[in-house]
Amino acid sequence: MTLFDRLVRLGMPLVPKLIVGKVAARYVAGDSITAAVDTIRRLQEEGAVTTVDVLGEEVLERARAETAVAEYVQLLETVSSQGLERNISVKPTMLGLKIDEAFCTDRIAEIVSRAHDLGAFVRIDMEDHTCTDATLRIYRQLQARYGNVGVVLQAYLHRTLPDISALLPLTPNIRICKGIYREPRAIAWKDFDTVRANFIFAMDRLLEGGAFVGIATHDRHLVCAGMAAVDRLGLTPDRYEFQMLLGVDSELRQVILGLGHRLRVYVPYGRDWYPYSMRRLRENPTVARHVMRAMVGLS
Ligand SMILES: Cc1cc2nc3c(=O)[nH]c(=O)nc-3n(C[C@H](O)[C@H](O)[C@H](O)COP(=O)(O)OP(=O)(O)OC[C@H]3O[C@@H](n4cnc5c(N)ncnc54)[C@H](O)[C@@H]3O)c2cc1C
Repeated sequence: MTLFDRLVRLGMPLVPKLIVGKVAARYVAGDSITAAVDTIRRLQEEGAVTTVDVLGEEVLERARAETAVAEYVQLLETVSSQGLERNISVKPTMLGLKIDEAFCTDRIAEIVSRAHDLGAFVRIDMEDHTCTDATLRIYRQLQARYGNVGVVLQAYLHRTLPDISALLPLTPNIRICKGIYREPRAIAWKDFDTVRANFIFAMDRLLEGGAFVGIATHDRHLVCAGMAAVDRLGLTPDRYEFQMLLGVDSELRQVILGLGHRLRVYVPYGRDWYPYSMRRLRENPTVARHVMRAMVGLS
């Protein structure tokens, strides 16, 4: 990332919402279930599978969390009735984690239970470190009750290897990613190479320990390390998949699919697109160019 890109990244909160929306449009399927369904179909034609996320987080009113449950149930019923991939990702703070953990557990349970009836899978995304313990507790409870649930671990957290050791006896389904939130140095690795190293330690430990692993990265070095681990351990597609975000590096997507691996694309949709889009723009290495172009109306 150039110095100019870094400066634009720091100044992102000052960029008008209209411009953010324009530049970030490629990361979001649209604002409706119909838009998500179109994107699922398009990716399916490419040979990829999907996990769909209804955008929203940091909900502090019970009614909004309940509305989110209804949206997820409608989404599950739509993809199911249309014979599409039945896989969703949910954020605990959208479902009331910041209101009350038990309330949130019940809301996620409603979604997981309906998903269970429809033969669908639910991944619980991992948010910032204030959510980690509660998210893992909710995962353990719902996995024991329903079985069609997975969770996410972040390679930047110091605690991730011990968390893996604690979870492996469950034969868990884990997405491993670098982690996207701004975390303090006391609890998180901050430099690029160390996060990469810990990603590989974590991924290897999970794959060797019998977990199903979603290898979620666009970092070619890590994709390559994932392929090497799969080859070394002789793993079949029921043990792993690669995962990428909508709007990021479609060429890499083709490379992974072309080599015969399963590739799942994370497809977010909904009206509450701003916080998600800001995180994506901050990690885009050429953010300045895109923002400048949008400012002068070139894209
Ligand atoms: C399927 C999936 C689910 C995720 N779920 C979570 C989660 O639950 N919790 C969480 O904390 N994080 C989550 N993440 C985000 C993740 O933690 C990283 O922040 C993100 O994937 C970027 O890290 P990277 O491994 O791709 O490596 P990076 O080094 O950041 O990126 C590698 C390369 O990918 C390209 N790239 C990356 N991001 C962008 C972008 N926004 N725009 C354009 N190009 C880009 C660039 O070429 C870059 O050099 C998820 C990521 C994926 C792929």
